[in-house]
Amino acid sequence: MSNATKIIHSIPVDPLTGSIAVPIYQTSTFVQEAPGEHKGFDYARSNNPTRETLEKIVAQLEGGERASAFASGLAAIDAVVKLLQSGDEILAVDDIYGGAFRLFTHIYAKFGIKVNYVDTTDVANVLDAITPQTKLIWLETPTNPTLKISDIESIAKIAKQHNVLLCVDNTFASPVLQQPIALGADIVIHSATKYLGGHSDLIAGIVISATQDLGDQIKFIQNACGAILSPHDSWLVIRGIETLELRVQQHSRNAQAVAEYLANHPAIDKIYYPGLATHHNHDIAAKQQSGFGGVISFTLKVDTEEAAKAVVCNTKYFKLAESLGGVKSLLCHPAQMTHKSIPAEKRRASGVADSLVRLSVGLENVEDLIQDIDQALVKAQQTVAAESVATFQ
Ligand SMILES: *Cc1c(COP(=O)(O)O)cnc(C)c1O
Repeated sequence: MSNATKIIHSIPVDPLTGSIAVPIYQTSTFVQEAPGEHKGFDYARSNNPTRETLEKIVAQLEGGERASAFASGLAAIDAVVKLLQSGDEILAVDDIYGGAFRLFTHIYAKFGIKVNYVDTTDVANVLDAITPQTKLIWLETPTNPTLKISDIESIAKIAKQHNVLLCVDNTFASPVLQQPIALGADIVIHSATKYLGGHSDLIAGIVISATQDLGDQIKFIQNACGAILSPHDSWLVIRGIETLELRVQQHSRNAQAVAEYLANHPAIDKIYYPGLATHHNHDIAAKQQSGFGGVISFTLKVDTEEAAKAVVCNTKYFKLAESLGGVKSLLCHPAQMTHKSIPAEKRRASGVADSLVRLSVGLENVEDLIQDIDQALVKAQQTVAAESVATFQ
């Protein structure tokens, strides 16, 4: 069965009515026949049929045993960290999502959980950084915003040898392009806000566990802490998943064409896209992903915040906004937006240069997108040239 057929038919027809669309069970509680005697649902924080349908679909998509849907990607990450206890350590990819960094550093540090940030693109660094206290390895691949690629299968082997859990944030690749559990990961998380939802109209997160036991632990945490996804948002994610494979394939095709165009553009210095043969660890991406996704980053020859600002303020179709993975193309300037709170030196050292621009390539016609970014780059060059002449005079 092809992937598209599998995904579309993982969404069940309602057994009660035959409804082809999944029903939204907008309820807080369920009537019981006798105390404790019910149809598998007692209270909607613990379980809701619409949410449960989404959880089963995503567990199947990722090849896991059990999934739990949360109110945001960060709530999903938070639930995974709660598997640990005071004194435990996390070994995390250094180019980690900013919100995960904030959660680890500003919330969990005070509960005695330590995080070692490591350049996981080189497997040897992972091996070197494991300590007897390491209980969880946290990977993102590709990362945000420099699209770093780490070898999931090799790192999973190291994790197993040391009896450490491996969690992969699979938000950027989506289950269509990458299946971390098949490569040995224990847990996968998603910001379903991005490609799973796919329409920039909701905030959601999912944790998928490779084993029933881990899945039960996450489910316990979810019920105990309460950051559940609402029935309506669960339904919206299911609706997004109906077109997931179609969208992700087209995001990838569009991004590949845009990246190839930008790689030869005179205004551009570095380009980060795993689908380019020049990208560090492109071979690993090609091995573990079936496509390279919709996110591209680049820096400008004129490496200033002003030059980047001139680009991001002059596009017509690429809208200036945080987030990614939606139908409409977006772009952002991490130095002044997502990474503004990081001190400039530290930010630059992690690869987020002053002029770095991140694109989330959408589903518009790719020629229109290329033309749009090209005219913005030309305008930016003119603006910067005019400013430097003015300074000179
Ligand atoms: C957006 C994002 C998150 C956080 O998800 P929210 O839904 O915004 O809470 C986590 N990881 C990655 C890679 C993301 O892009």
